[in-house]
Amino acid sequence: MAICVLCRQRKGKRFCPVVYNVICPICCGSHRLKKLNCPSSCPYLRQAKALEMAQKEAEWAQRGAERAEIEQRLTAFAIEEAISTFASEHPDLTDIEAISALQAVQDAVEREVMSGISHEPNVEGRAKDLALRILKNAQTMRQRIGIPHNVLLARVARLLTQRAMLLSQRTRDGQGYLRAVRVDIQPNSLEQLLERLTASQTRG
Ligand SMILES: [Zn+2]
Repeated sequence: MAICVLCRQRKGKRFCPVVYNVICPICCGSHRLKKLNCPSSCPYLRQAKALEMAQKEAEWAQRGAERAEIEQRLTAFAIEEAISTFASEHPDLTDIEAISALQAVQDAVEREVMSGISHEPNVEGRAKDLALRILKNAQTMRQRIGIPHNVLLARVARLLTQRAMLLSQRTRDGQGYLRAVRVDIQPNSLEQLLERLTASQTRG
C-alpha cells in the first residue's frame, strides 16, 4: 500500500488531483480548499461539500420555518435583482450565462463555507461579471439587514439554478429564464427594497 505523500505516515487511500498522487483521508480533510486548491470535479470534495452544506442547511431551517422562508425570499431577490439589472444592461445575455453565473456563485460560496477563505467565482467572461454582481448584491444586503449568510446564499443559488434550467428548457429560445426574471423583478430595485425594510425596522 502506498504512503500518503503529504504526511508520509498514513496509508494513501485517495488519489488527489492537486498533488497528483495518493494522500490519506485525514490530510485530504484538513488541507481541502486550504493548502490544496481542490478542483470542483474532485469526488472527495463533492461528497464533503454535499454533507457539510446539508448539515448547515438543517441547522438554519431549525430556527423556524416562517423566518427561514422570508430569509430565502429576500436572498432570491438579491440574486435575481443582480441578474435582472445585468440583463437590462446586456440585452443579448443568455440563460446559459445566467446559469453558469449561479453555479459559480454556489461553488465559490460553498468553498468559502468549508475553508473560511473567500474564493473567486470559477467561471469566465460575462458569467463571471454577473457572478461578481450577484455576490456584491448579497454583500450589500448582508451589510444592511444581516442576511444572507453563506449557507443560505449557496442554497438559494442552487434552487435558482434549478428554476432557471426548467424555465430555459420550456422556452427554447435561450432567454426564457431571463425574461421571467425581468418580469418579476425591476432592474435596479434592490436599494428601494432595502430602504423599505430598514425603515420598517427603525419604526419597530
Ligand atoms: Zn496524510
